[in-house]
This record gives sequence, structure tokens and C-alpha cells, in this order.
Amino acid sequence: MKAVVYQGPHDVAVTDVPDAKIERPTDVLVRVTTTNICGSDLHMYEGRTSFEKGRTFGHENMGEVVEIGKGVEKVKVGDRVVLPFNISCGFCKNCERGLTNYCLTTQPDPSAAGAAYGFAEMGQYGGGQAELLRVPFGDHNALRLGEDAQDKENDYVMLSDIFPTGYHATEMAGVIPGDSVVIAGAGPVGLMAALSATIKGASKVMVVDRHPDRLALAEQIGAIAIDDSKVDPVQAVLDETMGLGADRGCECVGYQAHDPEGNEDPAATLNMLINSVRFTGGIGTVGVFVPQDPGAKDELAKQGKVAIDFGTHWFKGQTMGNGQAPVKRYNRRLRDLIAADKAKPSWIVSHEISLDQAADAYRNFDSRSEGWTKVVIKP
Ligand code: NAD
Ligand code: ZN
Repeated sequence: MKAVVYQGPHDVAVTDVPDAKIERPTDVLVRVTTTNICGSDLHMYEGRTSFEKGRTFGHENMGEVVEIGKGVEKVKVGDRVVLPFNISCGFCKNCERGLTNYCLTTQPDPSAAGAAYGFAEMGQYGGGQAELLRVPFGDHNALRLGEDAQDKENDYVMLSDIFPTGYHATEMAGVIPGDSVVIAGAGPVGLMAALSATIKGASKVMVVDRHPDRLALAEQIGAIAIDDSKVDPVQAVLDETMGLGADRGCECVGYQAHDPEGNEDPAATLNMLINSVRFTGGIGTVGVFVPQDPGAKDELAKQGKVAIDFGTHWFKGQTMGNGQAPVKRYNRRLRDLIAADKAKPSWIVSHEISLDQAADAYRNFDSRSEGWTKVVIKP
């Protein structure tokens, strides 16, 4: 089968790899119909991880079931399904508590937790930027879609990662109706956090970025765009909230998306939130801060350290939640919002391409070329 394969830093190619196949009785095999490029793929693409050459990318996947293992009881051949990027078992200590992002069964390293398709440090699972994908524990992981699956393909595919991830940022921040919310980053994840805050009934959603095209997408769903290349974002949030600060903040940038030249403090977004969220407010951090970035210019970032203004965070009595999103916790409910036309996450899709165009798309998305917000691949 054809697949998008890692060749080394800043280098992907579409090559032939062995077909994905059923390996265990609980597996299902999916013919991938849509698979996205994600900001998280850039950690591997830019060569910051242990991702091995020859591995296939792709953790935001949906498709049609073409084969099921002998132990699969619920999912049927022909079902249209979307797959959470977290590969989880459903029965370990963490999954039982809904923490499918930290599954202990699917992660082979006993000192770690959590697995994903096409990812470094998250198990050796094949990615979905390919024609076929093996889905472990298919009954548990594959979320079945209704009759409208094909019509709303670009909406439903966002259930694999970024819509639940944006939603998780608002959950960890504690967003409830009437809250004012500031979001760092108008990338796909930040835009999904803005959509989620809006769905939850936020009174005011403010999105901070410096790309006019991405800020315009935030404005399309009624958010206030704050361009931090023009204004001080902390002051802008205080001005919007009568000097009090926002009730909630979401970090949707992470380490790698800060100035690639290394001229920006990797703690900039977290400190912006600590200083613009009110006393006793909440912050949810879904942006990835990699454990270590040996290639970083910043001395602390090299060691995986980020110099946050903890004194202010402590003094203000803020809470902060961090980490990967447990996609399964939210994806049914978010699916039903899409089905009911109450959420349309596809508004951020900028490019729909074939597998063969992937290398060019990675280059453009990585350099955040104007207009390249979200790429969906149709294998
Ligand atoms: P992206 O790189 O496309 O978007 C990041 C945005 O942040 C860009 O638009 C950039 O201009 C902006 N930015 C950079 N510095 C900024 C600053 N100082 N202030 C405000 N904005 C700034 O990435 P994405 O796909 O939206 O993903 C964002 C982050 O979320 C990444 O770190 C990604 O790995 C992570 N992520 C986490 C999870 C999870 O489960 N926790 C899931 C998916 C993605
Ligand atoms: Zn992703």
C-alpha cells in the first residue's frame, strides 16, 4: 500500500510499504478515507523525536471497515468509523477511569502510558496516512458514524483528535456558561478550543495569534482576534474583561510552534495566560511541551524545562491541567453535535489533497505558509 513515510528531518515521501493487516483477534482493518496532517506530526517531521526513518505518519484517521478479527463483536465490515488518536484497551486501570490517553495495555514500555498511531514514544503502531490502517481493540476504539458519514467526512474526521483536544483544553480550564476565555494559538487546536468554548456558552472568547488568516477563522465563529504582533495580548485581555482577567485560559501552541528561530521564550504562551487569567481562574494546556529538545536554542528547552511564572500562578490561586486529550471521553457527544448540525469543525479545512501531494503539504504546513491551516488527505 502507499503511505506517507518519514525519511529524516523535514523529509517525507510517499512510498510502498507492506499492507496493514489484522494481527490480533480484536483488530479491525480500515480503508482510510480521510487522514489529517496535525501540528503534532511536526514534532516528528522536524526531527525532534526518536521517530524512526521508514515509519508511517498519521494519527487523525477515519475510514471504512474492510475486515474484522475473530473476536470483534460490535463493529461490522462496511461500517464508517472515526478512530481516536489514542490507542487504548478500555480495561486497564487508567482506561477504567476514562483516561484512555494513558492506556497501560497498548503502551509496551511499562514505565510509560499512552499509545497512538504513527507517533514516536507511543508504541510502534502504523499511521493512517496510508491506504489501510490496523485498529487494535476495534470494538472499543472505532466510533461508528451514521448515514451522513460521507457527506460530513471533513467534520467527523476532526473527532479523531483536534475537536476533542480543543474541548479537553476547555474542560481542564473549567469553562462553564458565561465565562470569558482566552486561547493562546489560532492553529487547528486553538480554533477547536474556541469552538468548544462557544458551544459551552462562553460569554467572550479571545484568541491570540499572529497569523491574520488564522485569526480571521476565529472571528468567523464570533471570537475576538488578538494579534500579538501588534498589541500586548495581556493588556488586550485585561481591556476586554474590565481589568479582571479572563475566567479561563487554554494553551494551544506548545513548545514547537513558538518562533522556530528560537528568539521567543518557550514559556511565552504559558506566562501570557498566567498573567491574563484572573485570580482563581483555570488554565488547560494541551500544547505539547516535548520532554527534551536537544536542538533548541533556549538552554532550558534543551533540557525540557520551561520557565513559567510560577510565583504569579501560585499567588493568583490558579489551577492548571495538562497533557494529552482522552479522545474517547468526548467523541460520542461531539459526534452527535456534528450530526445535529450544532458544530461544524470543517470550517478550518484549507486544503484537501491526495497522498501524492503530502510532501509539499508538510513543507507548507510546517512553515505555516499563509492560508495553510488544516490539511486533509484523501487516500
Ligand atoms: P499549529 O502549529 O498549527 O498552531 C500553533 C499556532 O500557535 C500557530 O498558528 C502559531 O502562529 C501560534 N503561536 C506561536 N507562538 C505563539 C504565541 N507566543 N502566542 C500565540 N500564538 C502563538 O499547531 P496545532 O495543530 O494547532 O497544535 C497546537 C499544539 O497542540 C501542538 O503543540 C500540538 O502538538 C498540540 N496537540 C496536542 C494534543 C493533545 O492531546 N494534548 C493533540 C493535538 C495537538
Ligand atoms: Zn493530531
